[in-house]
Amino acid sequence: MKELEDRIRRDGTVKPGDVLKVDAFLNHQCDVTLFNDMGAEWARIFAGKKIDKILTIEASGIGIACIAAQHFGNVPVVFAKKSQSINLDGDQYSAKVYSYTKQKEFPVIVSKRFLTEGEHVLLIDDFLANGKAMHGLIDICNEAGVVIEGIGIAIEKGFQRGGKELREAGYNVASLAIVKAMDGDKGTIEFA
Ligand code: 5GP
Repeated sequence: MKELEDRIRRDGTVKPGDVLKVDAFLNHQCDVTLFNDMGAEWARIFAGKKIDKILTIEASGIGIACIAAQHFGNVPVVFAKKSQSINLDGDQYSAKVYSYTKQKEFPVIVSKRFLTEGEHVLLIDDFLANGKAMHGLIDICNEAGVVIEGIGIAIEKGFQRGGKELREAGYNVASLAIVKAMDGDKGTIEFA
């Protein structure tokens, strides 16, 4: 998606540890017009799929998922919550996610009230790097018995393994911008 690539080139910065900082428009200050165009693009890509619900993970996925939902008939958006602990009452689905940016593992939970067996779900997130966040959401979907119709990602770092693994596993992954290479010293970002 050219609009997103142009914006990353203009306002994105490359940080040590292969981190792309896009807080000027995606995950701190939010450009709602851009989010809306991203939602329209996912709706075009996933046209014809039955989507009952969008599932994302807090915090950065929530904004883009909510705007995207308006392009899928205003379906509900559920976000996996980062939790200090997993409660064992049996009223939550849970998974462990290793955070790429925070370099630590944390549990995420979704209340069983908000995912029902047989529902068709679209997963959305801001970044795909090594795929840990997505695998956490997939674990929750499998536990809930929902059908994963596709995965919508804003920015995939194509030089990390998450996207390749998910596609090889058969998931329909739609990344709106795929970064092929980036260099903080030279200030260059190349797209696939
Ligand atoms: P993964 O779980 O695929 O390794 O990483 C994806 C998650 O880590 C996303 O939810 C995102 O919040 C965060 N993340 C991974 N790489 C980057 C990055 O380069 N920049 C930013 N801002 N977040 C990232």
